[in-house]
Amino acid sequence: MSTVAALRAVAAALVVGVSSLSPLREAVSETTDTPTVDPAALARIRDAAMSSDWAWRHLARLTDEIGPRLSGSPQLALAVTEVAEAMRQLGARVTLQPAKVPHWVRGDAQAQLVDYPGRPAGIAQRLALTALGGSAATPEKGLTARVIVVHDMTELTARAGLVRGNIVLFDSRFDQRLADNGDAGDAYSQAGRYRFNGASAAAKLGAAGALVRSIGGANFRLPHTGVTLFKEGQTPIPAAALAAEDADLVTRLAESGPVTLTLLLTPKTLPDADSDNVIADWPGREKPDEYVIVSGHLDSWDLATGATDDGVGVIGAAAVIEILKELDLHPRRSVRFIGWTNEENGGRGSKAYFASVAQALDTQCAAIESDDGAGRSIGIAAAVPKEWLPALRPVQEALSPIGATGLLRRDGEVGADINPLQQAGVPGFAPWVDARHYFDYHHTAADTLDKVDPQNLKSQVATLAVLAYFLAELPEPLPRFKTSD
Ligand SMILES: [Zn+2]
Repeated sequence: MSTVAALRAVAAALVVGVSSLSPLREAVSETTDTPTVDPAALARIRDAAMSSDWAWRHLARLTDEIGPRLSGSPQLALAVTEVAEAMRQLGARVTLQPAKVPHWVRGDAQAQLVDYPGRPAGIAQRLALTALGGSAATPEKGLTARVIVVHDMTELTARAGLVRGNIVLFDSRFDQRLADNGDAGDAYSQAGRYRFNGASAAAKLGAAGALVRSIGGANFRLPHTGVTLFKEGQTPIPAAALAAEDADLVTRLAESGPVTLTLLLTPKTLPDADSDNVIADWPGREKPDEYVIVSGHLDSWDLATGATDDGVGVIGAAAVIEILKELDLHPRRSVRFIGWTNEENGGRGSKAYFASVAQALDTQCAAIESDDGAGRSIGIAAAVPKEWLPALRPVQEALSPIGATGLLRRDGEVGADINPLQQAGVPGFAPWVDARHYFDYHHTAADTLDKVDPQNLKSQVATLAVLAYFLAELPEPLPRFKTSD
């Protein structure tokens, strides 16, 4: 999960537990004589997913051995090649779909406080920080300027006269209470606003640089990276995320007087690089030209190995093909795995795919994206009109033995890469996972394989496989509808 649009994902959610669905169930049973999809097949899919270690083995390969997969890196190229080959070995029909991707390289990041109220003579304090994707470099000797601390955009406007030539720090806290409530996406959205748009807003006022407080709830002095966006035609400025503790430090010191900081960032923006979406089709037995997409993104940030963002999602989606192969099941329609390229800092894979199907949207029956971390599966999230929810009951029942009976209705986007499809009326789905601690590690140097519980991964594969098969097997595809954003 990373783009602006992804941040709106959880808005206006309607949470429905399986027990509270009983009135809806009655409505369905009055109108449905026979099950739309064989419950025994769904149960076999669930059980196969819960007993397969294919996903774990491939996730370990992707993370421990291949490593960080930022767009333009040799690791992302290798991930594309290897996941495509793994899909071919399963007997899927594989296509590599080219996309030119941004090629931003991090370089070094250093900062120190060189003047502040109460500073003992000769003392400077180093800060923990990391550059934001899309940041410009500072001058070679660093940028030394006063830090203007603001907590929101209103305060930035109020202090606009102080910004020119200085460094703006956006000190906006991640609200872990929201994450604890099950609304981690909302917490990310609130704090993420400043990471996405803060540097651009500061640059517009003449700032020489921008800093944001790291997003996330763990606060182990871990800076949190991610993309920052500049407007078309705007010259990027140096932009970095301070560890939360260091943002607190600067804010405390600035309450007593001017704080001056030296910032050194050496990122480079190279010419766009070649990459590909991996598309692997598992042919349907009746309507092979109609597709249900199950997907995750192959690229990751570069501070760690992207195990939870989005190794789990992309490998979990790939594992759906492995389960169907193992059970020799071909639903009515084709199941199409997509390993997206460049979700994190450009969305070029998503754009390339949408362009390729824009004239044939009737063939795109439903789209699932898994990009919400490595938590246990709670059930499914569905961006569909609420009167459709009862139709999803067989999925809930199949997932009941693993405790994944939840059904979360979302009004808007459920995944950044499938969002263009959703906007065009294709029903969008995602596994609904426990994301209370997703943002403890997300986009930090701690997003590594040890954060993934193999049982949770299995529960996600089971959810994806049951849902994908169900949607591909329905006698009639779900109708189209317009999303509200
Ligand atoms: Zn992601």
